[in-house]
Amino acid sequence: MKPAQVHDLTPIRAPAPETVLRPEVLALSAYAVADATGMVKLDAMENPYSLPQVVRDEIARAVAMAPVNRYPDPTAPGLKRQLRATMQVPAGIGLLLGNGSDEIIQLLALAVARPGSVIVGVEPSFVMFRLLAMFAGATFVGVPLEPDFSLDEAALMAAIREHQPALMFIAYPNNPTGNLFDRSVIERIVAAAPGLVVLDEAYHVFAGESFIGDLERLPNLVVMRTLSKLGLAGLRLGFLMGRAQWLDQLDKVRMPYNINVLTQLAAEVVLAHADVLKGQARAILQARDALAGALSAVPGVTVFPSAANFLLFRIPGATRVYDALKARRILIKDLSAGHPLLADCLRVTVGTPAENQQFLGALETIVAS
Ligand SMILES: *Cc1c(COP(=O)(O)O)cnc(C)c1O
Repeated sequence: MKPAQVHDLTPIRAPAPETVLRPEVLALSAYAVADATGMVKLDAMENPYSLPQVVRDEIARAVAMAPVNRYPDPTAPGLKRQLRATMQVPAGIGLLLGNGSDEIIQLLALAVARPGSVIVGVEPSFVMFRLLAMFAGATFVGVPLEPDFSLDEAALMAAIREHQPALMFIAYPNNPTGNLFDRSVIERIVAAAPGLVVLDEAYHVFAGESFIGDLERLPNLVVMRTLSKLGLAGLRLGFLMGRAQWLDQLDKVRMPYNINVLTQLAAEVVLAHADVLKGQARAILQARDALAGALSAVPGVTVFPSAANFLLFRIPGATRVYDALKARRILIKDLSAGHPLLADCLRVTVGTPAENQQFLGALETIVAS
């Protein structure tokens, strides 16, 4: 029997990823999500509390009935009705759902991106704005915040004049700095912007402040929120609110089945018990203020004001402190290499009082040693 003829085949030169993929993708380092197994997890702004057993049982019953053989309803009417009621979405304001607000950021970037389009944000802020703008093929321009993390209005106005951005992102409150920007500065930016401005209110449940009430007055404004920080990060549900003239167009870019059946059902159940999540948020706010007080008493530590469920703080030798906390099974976020304004800065998510105490105890030990 003759041997297989494989060796006679003209050798195929396997294409190397470097020759195929976009240089900006090759240049990226992978989005690092630290392994949190067995850790006190205070790195990702998650709600530390689980749902009451009665709500879990109700989710289980709803999910057990889910028609998983069918595609989800792309308009998710039940969930949208529930969201409108729970989030006080004004009548006449449109609602677009995303698989997390990350997907909505991507959709917005895809909808505006063409050769030469510019997306403007501030820095430091949520890194997905820059990343998803780049994936969409747009140019991202990040305008530095002032050293106290307030908006640099003159620099933003200059960026608007120079780049005529199709899209702008402002997180309110901002992540990772935690502060709310001056409302009147935001209003002047929205008025000056030649394109769409997205107010990202991911931390609304903690901050209370919102631009929802301004949607009818400011025609180029849309407001984005998520259920993630409210306690449902695992469900992946974000939503965008704005005028129908914008949302009807943006909806064409949305993947029709982006909100799966299980998420639609589970979110609808949990939102009917929104008071539970809001009660947890109140507990987190109390714990945040206690943590801020105790943290600012640690020698060398500066805590920045926060309207969210995390605290940004500066500490000498931040990366060493971060590593030492990690060695003690406490996971927070090291931001010190992320931006010059964040030199020696770490971010801790507010956990349960017991978790916060573990974090503080470990930090005090590390600082004293
Ligand atoms: C966490 C966060 C998001 C992402 O939320 P998902 O809905 O979980 O994708 C968006 N914006 C900001 C500012 C955030 O901090």
